[in-house]
Amino acid sequence: MQRKVRNVGAIWRSMLGMLWSKAAATTLGSLVASLVIAASGGQAQPAFPTRPMTIVVPAAAGGPTDTVARLIAEPMGRTLGQQIVVENVGGAGGTIGVGRVAKAAGDGYTLLVWHIGQSTAPSLYDNLRYDVFNDFDPIGRITDVPMTVVGKKSLAAKDIAELLTWLREKQDQVTYAHAGIGSASHLCGLMLMSALNIKMHAVVYRGTGPAMNDLVGGQFDVMCDQTTGTANQINAGTIKGFAATTQARIPLLAALPTLSEAGVKGFEVSAWHALWGPKGLPKEVVEKLTAALQGALREPVVIERMAGLATVPVAQDLATPAALKAQLEAEVAKWGAVIRAAGVKAN
Ligand code: ASP
Repeated sequence: MQRKVRNVGAIWRSMLGMLWSKAAATTLGSLVASLVIAASGGQAQPAFPTRPMTIVVPAAAGGPTDTVARLIAEPMGRTLGQQIVVENVGGAGGTIGVGRVAKAAGDGYTLLVWHIGQSTAPSLYDNLRYDVFNDFDPIGRITDVPMTVVGKKSLAAKDIAELLTWLREKQDQVTYAHAGIGSASHLCGLMLMSALNIKMHAVVYRGTGPAMNDLVGGQFDVMCDQTTGTANQINAGTIKGFAATTQARIPLLAALPTLSEAGVKGFEVSAWHALWGPKGLPKEVVEKLTAALQGALREPVVIERMAGLATVPVAQDLATPAALKAQLEAEVAKWGAVIRAAGVKAN
């Protein structure tokens, strides 16, 4: 009997033990689950990213925007644990590629690296099929890139003064390249023509990467493009560098006077690049992308490669959605006024 009672006690103890450990496990489990849900803003979310991602560059491969996108794609992909493929969708001053991203799913798997053109297109195109504010979610700014006036090697002009004289003399016999209406090279060319009160003959490309190949080959006369496309060629002597379009000289290309110094007073344009996604990105996806972008911009190899192209990553607090939103608003207003004053339209 005594033995029986002891056995019943043992059974009870072991049953209670099982119940306790099950309850403890359940409590721990729900605690972990609620922490995960709390961390994800109240809703359980699938991990992001679970498959490769794409950055659309709305200009040809080998050009300045392509270079910037490829510089951040690799380190961002490493941080996020997925490959990021760069897809070049050039044409129509970038509006085809940008339009593609506007219509993509807002899940973070299709992103856009573009530039100042995002702020000029609304004023240049009457029938733009996207809205730069409402069809995109900003992720962050990447870099601001100075521009340069360059020419083919065989031009007789030795410096910017001689080039300006020649441009004024030859006018529309001069061929200048740009990457389509709304591109940075287009904007810079327009500003130069309006400042000099001349008209040059445009040769249009899907990006300034292919234009640069043709400039090295001497197939047109001049171009205004980002240092991310021109610095190496100027320094290698395959093209002629004439002037910087910035307020101050560019340290890496210190021999180039600014256009302002050369008498084109107040001339200033630089191209800024940024990262967007289509509208509707979940908050935690934006946060992950922003953190990955900031990480990429801190990488010594990215900083070093940008330095070699006469640029620097933006400060970390500018590689944020809020800073890009503010930048776009300011730039749309700024270039809208310039474009309206110049009376230019794409269509
Ligand atoms: N640099 C080009 C432009 O003029 C675009 C590009 O090829 O990156 O806008």
